[in-house]
Amino acid sequence: MIASNLVQIRSELPINVKLVAVSKYRPVDELLQAYDAGQRVFAESRPLELEVKAQALPGDCEWHFIGHLQTNKLRNVLPYVSMIHSVDSMHLLEAIDRANTAAGRVTDVLLEVHVAMEESKQGFDASELRGPSVVEALQKNCKGLRIRGLMAMASNTDDLDRVDADFAAVQDLFESIRRDNPSLEAFDQLSIGMSGDWRIALRHGATMVRIGSAIFIDNQ
Ligand SMILES: *Cc1c(COP(=O)(O)O)cnc(C)c1O
Repeated sequence: MIASNLVQIRSELPINVKLVAVSKYRPVDELLQAYDAGQRVFAESRPLELEVKAQALPGDCEWHFIGHLQTNKLRNVLPYVSMIHSVDSMHLLEAIDRANTAAGRVTDVLLEVHVAMEESKQGFDASELRGPSVVEALQKNCKGLRIRGLMAMASNTDDLDRVDADFAAVQDLFESIRRDNPSLEAFDQLSIGMSGDWRIALRHGATMVRIGSAIFIDNQ
């Protein structure tokens, strides 16, 4: 089932879109099934769970972090991850930079943008990131990380027009940041789309989709 879900999803993904398997809450044996089916990129949302699984899976896996991250948990996350999708505040950005600078490490990060209608969602407002050299200025102060792009979640709703509008708003922000910050070296990643809406996200320029239940639970 996990293997056939992966085959089905991969068959619909353009080759330039990375499939990030969201393995949070799933037991290690299910991750190993995905591994045996060729999956190498996994995402977790809790630091301790990430540590346990990163140590349990073979060493050629790539780990991404997608959950809200408290600065006192950075030491449990930074040694394992190749990307943090969920940088949702200046405070966290600075803390990652400090920890990495001390350790001589550089981590790829995405800035999480709040576009959904739910008020509780984490993330930057688009207005905080828009404008000439705004993200360039953030990057300039941070040698311990590379700002690679944006991550967002659409509104949690059955209204597909609303989901489409949310992704369109992120795509617009992503493209405007690229135009307004020409010196950013590798601002080229847009992480949008989950199990219920990744096909919509593909229409709005997703370069990474984060899919959990459609791999590990559903038979979609
Ligand atoms: C859980 C989670 C996902 C995956 O959600 P599914 O609906 O199971 O695909 C993607 N992104 C984030 C940030 C998540 O927390």
